[in-house]
Amino acid sequence: MQPAEIHREVVILGSGPAGLTAAIYAARADMKPLVIEGPQPGGQLTITTEVENYPGFAKGIQGPELMDEMRGQAARFGTEFHTGWISHVDLQHRPFTIHDVGEKDETQVKAIIKAETLIIASGASAKWLGIPGEAPAPYGLGGLGVSACATCDGFFFKGKEIIVVGGGDTALEEATFLTRYASKVYLVHRRDRLRASQIMQQKARANDKIEFIWNTGVEEILGTQESGVTGARLKDLQTGETREFPCEGVFVAIGHKPNTDLFKNQLDMDEVGYLCTAARTMATNIPGVFACGDVQDSVYRQAVTAAGTGCMAAIDAERFLDSLPVEMPDHTEVTQEGEIITPDHKLIIEPSGEVVSNITDNG
Ligand code: NDP
Repeated sequence: MQPAEIHREVVILGSGPAGLTAAIYAARADMKPLVIEGPQPGGQLTITTEVENYPGFAKGIQGPELMDEMRGQAARFGTEFHTGWISHVDLQHRPFTIHDVGEKDETQVKAIIKAETLIIASGASAKWLGIPGEAPAPYGLGGLGVSACATCDGFFFKGKEIIVVGGGDTALEEATFLTRYASKVYLVHRRDRLRASQIMQQKARANDKIEFIWNTGVEEILGTQESGVTGARLKDLQTGETREFPCEGVFVAIGHKPNTDLFKNQLDMDEVGYLCTAARTMATNIPGVFACGDVQDSVYRQAVTAAGTGCMAAIDAERFLDSLPVEMPDHTEVTQEGEIITPDHKLIIEPSGEVVSNITDNG
């Protein structure tokens, strides 16, 4: 079957707070955006419970409800939604080409989406240790006591002893939050110093339900599909000794990885893989491609900052489209500056009448 062909002025990849805010702005600017939703529509907030720090909700709001509202607001102004799995993106030529294979691990292209501008809002995902027992059930104990989201799963650990792995702000925040439910939280860290901010450290150290296990790695998560997690094999990284440590839950909190694999060797990224954007805009190194939200933010990573950058990306995309040359009936193009580009794109006639070459070094 031939793949469906879709062509839009603005395509937004991702439907978390950044992507949906970009959609609201783009739709209200009459750019008829298309939002491509992946396997987790609504992004990370759909797996949280109460959101207390998103402005405008004095009593707080449930994460999934907040995302439903944003989606409804984007749809109200004409945003279209497309569910799929993007296998390949070609950013070398505009319109950019996006290949949708429908679902992960599929190979046949179901839709080819052409985008005059692309807003990348594909977010970030929790990092994993890559150890036995960690994979989602039935391959491991994921969902049976192994988690990377305390706010999603903390409730299931009432009165239980659990481990949190990591030494950054996320680990300490998760550990502190989990003491609401767990009888004891062991924070297992591979060094003897925390990376977390002082305020988080003080809070965690003052909590007598939290105990630190230093210089220790987790080698394996133990348990069965029937029992769930029953323990973890810990390794003292100084002596090399291992031991079985009984616990009923393991929370992995070792940071996040931006979802940018699709853009490797095409867009500038930092050493971790976060997309680089220009100062004071959401522009990437390719004109017409913008990035917003957690995919380009390793520092703030808040729903409200993601939404803010989504708004900026949509305004940037609108200005980019407005700045493009307009094609005339005789196929010459006129730029905002009043230059005329010949139909073969080889010459530019300046407003002064001077004729210059439009052929750059790379063609
Ligand atoms: P970080 O990268 O800051 O910390 C990751 C932690 O996990 C580090 O302690 C690291 O150890 C450890 N780690 C990484 N990989 C492994 C591994 N393979 N095995 C064992 N341990 C590992 O990530 P965070 O998610 O904690 O924070 C990211 C950013 O988000 C930071 O800027 C942080 O300040 C911010 N943040 C802010 C919050 C807030 O203000 N409320 C809450 C959460 C995050 P090591 O130290 O040895 O490298």
